[in-house]
Amino acid sequence: MTQMFPLPAHGWPVLQPGWVWLVGAGPGDPGLLTLHALNALRQADVIVHDALVPDEILAWAPQARLEDMGKRAGKTSARQDDICHRLIDLARAGQRVLRLKGGDPYVFGRGGEEAQALIAAHVPVRVVPGITAGIGGLAAAGIPATHRDFNQSVSFVTGHDHSGALPASLDWRAIAQGSQMLVIYMGLRHAEKIAAQLIGAGRAASEPCAIIANATRPDQQVIETTLTHLARDAANAPASAPVLLVVGENVRLRAELDWASQVAAPMMAAE
Ligand code: SAH
Repeated sequence: MTQMFPLPAHGWPVLQPGWVWLVGAGPGDPGLLTLHALNALRQADVIVHDALVPDEILAWAPQARLEDMGKRAGKTSARQDDICHRLIDLARAGQRVLRLKGGDPYVFGRGGEEAQALIAAHVPVRVVPGITAGIGGLAAAGIPATHRDFNQSVSFVTGHDHSGALPASLDWRAIAQGSQMLVIYMGLRHAEKIAAQLIGAGRAASEPCAIIANATRPDQQVIETTLTHLARDAANAPASAPVLLVVGENVRLRAELDWASQVAAPMMAAE
């Protein structure tokens, strides 16, 4: 049985029946939940979660019923419309609903679409931000998202559109030239095209890159590489893991700042 510790004294909001709280669970390490997220876990009747939320976090809500929208029947993800309808139905049935999503609900997580649907259906909503993988995962990999010696800008990019293709709307020339540091979510499958686009747009083929799998989790794996070898090394990332691609000089700082491999047990680094 999970040991419960009291939240520090504060005017914690009450999750009322009929409400949906749209909450970020952080990148994986349960310690990176916010206190608002923990407060929500303690009160929910039902938790509608995606595949990125670890069981250890869900176990902190033993009273709640769990609905996994990440891999229905162990196969494909639930359709977005179905998730929105489900949230609305649960709220209208008077449940205290926690919609728990990996990272931050509004960063490449379709949380915006869910909030729009709920608000359009007059379901009351609270949104709780979470630590996004592109921030928390970088810190865990020993790569500062910004560093005065290397970058004054950082961009979050998605490598995936509705259909799974590399989004056609991305202007790679503008991205390559506009931001020194790139953090690419869901880019693994298109690593080859991404690297080619960036090199074509003027980034050095030798530019340092990192492939971060399962960031902040015990099985975190970081592969340091270059744009030239990004696709080759991406093929070595664990197939079903969430993976970030990082492009920028800051990756070099890992040589000094990889604190996690000194405190955590299994971490792998490959060239
Ligand atoms: N809302 C989430 C992102 C959802 S999109 C957030 O803010 O973090 C899913 C993608 O996020 C994954 O394909 C991967 O690119 C990235 N991601 C999420 N968790 C991760 C983790 N622990 N390690 C590496 N990448 C992660």
